[in-house]
Amino acid sequence: METRVRFAPSPTGALHIGGGHTALFNWLKARHDGGKFVLRIEDTDRERSTKEYEETIMSGLRWLGLDWDEGPDVGGAFGPYRQSERADIYIEHAERLLSEGVAYRDGGAVLFRVPRDSDLSFDDEVYGHIDASSEGMKERNAADSLKDIVMIKSDGTPTYNYAVVIDDRLMNVTHVIRGEDHISNTPKQILLYRAFGWTPPRFAHLPMILGKDKKKLSKRHGATSVYEYRDMGYMPDSMFNFLALLGWSGGGAGSSQGSENTEIFTRAAAAAAFDLKDVTRKPAVFDFDKLNYINQEHLKRLDPMVRLEMVKPFWREMGLPAGDGQKRDDAWLADALTLMGGRGRTAKELAEFSDYYLSFEPVKARLSTGELTIPDSEKLRGFMSALLAVPDWTDSALEAEARSWVEKEGGKMKDYAMPLRFALTGMRVSPGIFEVAAHLGRDEVRSRLNYFLPGLPGLPGLPGLAK
Ligand code: GLU
Repeated sequence: METRVRFAPSPTGALHIGGGHTALFNWLKARHDGGKFVLRIEDTDRERSTKEYEETIMSGLRWLGLDWDEGPDVGGAFGPYRQSERADIYIEHAERLLSEGVAYRDGGAVLFRVPRDSDLSFDDEVYGHIDASSEGMKERNAADSLKDIVMIKSDGTPTYNYAVVIDDRLMNVTHVIRGEDHISNTPKQILLYRAFGWTPPRFAHLPMILGKDKKKLSKRHGATSVYEYRDMGYMPDSMFNFLALLGWSGGGAGSSQGSENTEIFTRAAAAAAFDLKDVTRKPAVFDFDKLNYINQEHLKRLDPMVRLEMVKPFWREMGLPAGDGQKRDDAWLADALTLMGGRGRTAKELAEFSDYYLSFEPVKARLSTGELTIPDSEKLRGFMSALLAVPDWTDSALEAEARSWVEKEGGKMKDYAMPLRFALTGMRVSPGIFEVAAHLGRDEVRSRLNYFLPGLPGLPGLPGLAK
């Protein structure tokens, strides 16, 4: 039988971490099995559901790279895929149970009469055997059976527990994969399946996501919507990778790509390695350090031109000329980012750490605070002039020249290299400064050095040195 799973969000808010996590595990299951991933919009709460949220959730899923095979936008053979468009179906099925005498009307509502001593246990693919009758479920009446289940409310709308059963059945869902907060709903749903004479699908509940303080993940822990992470400069690839590791070890997905780090993997490798059996019951902890680490690893592995496009918006946000008014071509900027050698945990940090490639302005601004100083000494001027005169403008030639100069004139390399770094980058930390100088080019280096050491003496044969 073909695997069919579904993600069934209520469009009453943005796509949250928990929702993204649930969608991702459904996607992994569908892609591993070569089955279908269905998107169903559970918008029976007409007050709180909006088309905007529906759109945001869909674009959040797309951003994570979770494509669906059936849904309200792409259609499919089992639609409609919005619960608000399935009202007739719910009524029709409620009438069936009414006519069979297992459901009854109370006020305008339709309720399912739960048989006494119903078996409330089920086997969960992750949590194993769960017996709700021994778990002291809240919704019991005095006679120790489950309270009757409302199917249709008096306003004519179906309840979640009822609609979800009808839809999962009619959409041929084989595996219901969702957050563990739904474990308590599952026995009620199973009772409804039985009332209709249907075999329930398999259930797999996913562990809860906690903050580092072991409390349920909430706004207090930081950003909770998937989009906030995009805006902070996290990559969809790493967000996917990170969410997949909440409750799953990755099944060795990383090593299958020849990476020594088994925790860094692509969507395809994750899908190939996925098995519901490997999902843990232990609550998963949302660890920002880990997210940063994963993001950095993905950023390093990215194609240079793709990485450049990720960084550009952040440069623009900082008021730097990337795109409009850009002075260097894209290949040059992409190389500059490669020179950063994996610095920067996010695209935003990478943009901040590399701003001096786009403009001299931030360098001047940082130097103007007086925190970093470039001593205007004869020795330093001599060093800079010697560098500017290097015939072959490469990092190795610059470094060789610097070494021989320091050897000849005395002092320590860092006494010269640091001021050079300050003048070119305005930062204490940067990639190898001779690599930076080589990439910036002789003219740019000359003009930056002249700004801080005006009238830097030129050397014969090099025009325009003493600007
Ligand atoms: N609309 C429900 C929710 O967002 C779906 C739960 C389920 O997957 O059954 O929690």
